[in-house]
Amino acid sequence: MMEDKEPTSLKAISQTTRLYPSTPRPSSQTPRAGPRYFPQNVLTNDDDMEQPLSILPEYSSSPTSPPDTPTPARCEISEPSQPADLLVFREFAVTTTTPQEITATDAKDSNLNKSMHAPRNVMVDQTMDAPPSPPTTRVQTVEEETILAHLTLADANRSALSQNGINHRTILPQFTPTPIGGFPKVHMAHSAQIFDHLDNKVLLAWFQVEHPKFMVRVFDLSGKDVAENTAITAECIKASISIIADFVHQEAPPICVSPPQPQGRRGAKEFPVGFLVHKISEEARNLIVNQRIWSSTNITFEALPFNCPSPPELLFCLSGFTTSDANIVHKAVVDVWAHDDNRHHIDDAFSMCGFPDDKLVYQATRDLIHSVRVETLDFKVTGGLSVPRFNIFATSPTNDVKTWTELRGFLRILEYPTGLDGCGIAAALFPCQICHSLAHLRGLCPFPLTPQWNGPKLNNRSTANSAQLPGRSRGGR
Ligand SMILES: [Zn+2]
Repeated sequence: MMEDKEPTSLKAISQTTRLYPSTPRPSSQTPRAGPRYFPQNVLTNDDDMEQPLSILPEYSSSPTSPPDTPTPARCEISEPSQPADLLVFREFAVTTTTPQEITATDAKDSNLNKSMHAPRNVMVDQTMDAPPSPPTTRVQTVEEETILAHLTLADANRSALSQNGINHRTILPQFTPTPIGGFPKVHMAHSAQIFDHLDNKVLLAWFQVEHPKFMVRVFDLSGKDVAENTAITAECIKASISIIADFVHQEAPPICVSPPQPQGRRGAKEFPVGFLVHKISEEARNLIVNQRIWSSTNITFEALPFNCPSPPELLFCLSGFTTSDANIVHKAVVDVWAHDDNRHHIDDAFSMCGFPDDKLVYQATRDLIHSVRVETLDFKVTGGLSVPRFNIFATSPTNDVKTWTELRGFLRILEYPTGLDGCGIAAALFPCQICHSLAHLRGLCPFPLTPQWNGPKLNNRSTANSAQLPGRSRGGR
């Protein structure tokens, strides 16, 4: 993996090294290290913050500007530098290089210049007729430059490879750091699911609460658990979020956590799971919602913005195939959707939701079919037999909730036949007890595999969130 991230451009390298002449704390080096997350009153050391803040804009706006450091880059290489790669690389370099190491590698670099590419070698190679070039004009070849550039960063690379796969976005040691590639997605049944089963009056009251506000869904806690332990769960959420809010603003005013109440109150059969967090600064809200997953040993939760995101990508789950090859299932789905009758039905659905002309309607249908994605689930039936299931994902070309609902309903009831591998039909989806995602059951939850995960484990319900909640010793359901 690191091979991909190693910059091949000398400009990239010189920028990488130039950006961080000192060793700032990892917390101030994350891509989120903008002023809104780290307002001035939080800072204890101006030097730590001012360098990245003043340099980052130059880094993003002119990635090809010539280097101004005397170290190896003296020749131009036409390969454009890749800001995305730089970003990744920078995080490794920053967190693994100490000032002493920088000094050491600089020294090694100059030693190499003397030993391997010393001017006297050039002189020896000159023909008798040619006037000897002054030693200072010796220009290293591209290959030499590349070797030196890689050696300059060798320590950083070795160090980065010896570490676990986290990207040092940890800002608070109490919480699991965001893994490389981000936390797994949590797939919901619909965009407003966080408000499901919530009492209407409570929902109206939440609407009237001023922004900044956001929603929280606690891992490993069902709606019934929430109803039974409302107050203590709210306190746990509050304590956890206060740590983050205090980090953003020292002595931040107390935040508020409002618990859900079920529609129908005592007679309710379905229970809401979302808590409202408010009386919080915009900076803290943004930090929490952007990282999304906060896992400490006391409580693990997902933070969601107080709005309706685009329609979920998980459409349905197919069972009935006798293959575990996702490509075969992908082809079956695309073939069925592209079949004339079904394609016309999809066209009709899109034509009702505001696409201005037929051309855009057809384009929307094509986009939908092109966006199909299949994920194999290693589903086991009683007795341990493996019977694969397949989650079918697609990106909706429209945010129109009525169109999307109708369309998913239509695609879900279709049959998905293959020539040799059986016929897929939709299977019921149940939420994961840990993360609430509909894309897997508890045993397949990807969250417990996250490095430094503090939250609930795959097969043990008596950990983490349940630890301080009364009535949770009854074990799994
Ligand atoms: Zn899960």
